[in-house]
Amino acid sequence: MITALVDITVDFPILKRQINGHRLIYLDSAATSQKPQSVIDRLVQYYETTNANVLRSVHTLAEEATTAMEEAREKIARFIHAKSPREVIFTRGTTESLNTIARAWGDKFLEAGDEIVLSPMEHHSNLIPWQQLAKRVGAKLKFIELQPNGTITVEAVKQQITERTRIVTLSAVSNVLGTINPIAEVAVLAHQVGAIMVVDGAQSVPHGPTDVQALGIDFLAFSGHKMLGPTGIGVLWGKEALLEAADPVMFGGEMIAYVDRDDATWAELPAKFEGGTPHIAGAIGLGTAIDYLSTIGMERIEEHSRMLAEEAYRRLANLSDVVVYGPEYPRTSLVAFNIVGIHPHDIAQVFDSRGIAIRAGHHCAQPLMHWLDVSSTARASFYLYNSDRDIDELVDAIEATKRYFKR
Ligand code: PMP
Repeated sequence: MITALVDITVDFPILKRQINGHRLIYLDSAATSQKPQSVIDRLVQYYETTNANVLRSVHTLAEEATTAMEEAREKIARFIHAKSPREVIFTRGTTESLNTIARAWGDKFLEAGDEIVLSPMEHHSNLIPWQQLAKRVGAKLKFIELQPNGTITVEAVKQQITERTRIVTLSAVSNVLGTINPIAEVAVLAHQVGAIMVVDGAQSVPHGPTDVQALGIDFLAFSGHKMLGPTGIGVLWGKEALLEAADPVMFGGEMIAYVDRDDATWAELPAKFEGGTPHIAGAIGLGTAIDYLSTIGMERIEEHSRMLAEEAYRRLANLSDVVVYGPEYPRTSLVAFNIVGIHPHDIAQVFDSRGIAIRAGHHCAQPLMHWLDVSSTARASFYLYNSDRDIDELVDAIEATKRYFKR
């Protein structure tokens, strides 16, 4: 039996909702997670009691807002085992973090003929910034060959890395295949040729402990909204020396040391990369989400996400006319599938009529869809508020969909 890690009816108000006459079964946390009451309350409390702009002013509210935001930064630094909060940059999310790395570090340090190694399973946000960087500087993208079950082996990575490799970038967990990639091993290979290791942690940071130092990586990107936090806030973590060496990409208020008519100098980290008023409430809310996750324990969450994903895979793989993607084991947090002859959008629609929220589409991973030789899939994704009861509902809904379309 796999029980939810939290009392869903107490902590997650949205899960009390009825959808089309049924209890809401939320199986779309890979797109965005639901928010616990404590995060919702913290946002309201911030706006009711503390709202002010940070850094700019010495009045009491501004100081309180600044302190609260910096406390959130410290929590995040501890959560991912950063050496210092100076290495934690607030962004809008994974997408902005990855684009920032490509601009800030890539534009400065890549030259024509240099190589960027990545995989065909990347989300568009960990592909297009590198395509664009490659075009700007004349670099080349090199893709790691996937195994037939969608996994990446260290051997396959070795085949793409050369003396010209400057950047190796991978998602730690695929948002379609649920695979867990060998990040630490790949980081060693990258460093052997003097390349940096960039990690898209959008689907990994919410689902298990993250230790950027133990992983031996150089940059990490993740989104608050997939880990119980608000939308519009995310994190770019980078090793301090690399962030120091990189150039800012967003110019304006807050990020400068000194400005005259013709030129400007940059503020210290992390402000150098945080031009403009940040999403203060979002950062504070993300800090509260991290408190909530830490109270439950990231090890427990990791085990829970893996158990649900493996159980769902096993049960779906046993159904007739159902195709599941990625490896049976190890996997985490989600399962993508198709029902033969039924379009994923039709599956999602039948599911919705039963109160079940899933995702259907290409999941911002079109090259992976080509590799799988499908145009789209359905995807059920899990988090700490899901249980094996939800998998029962998923299986029942698949059978109902097959009956509906007479398969
Ligand atoms: N990478 C992966 C693996 C993702 O799953 C997502 C979100 N679907 C992203 C990047 C982009 O995250 P965001 O939209 O929050 O920037």
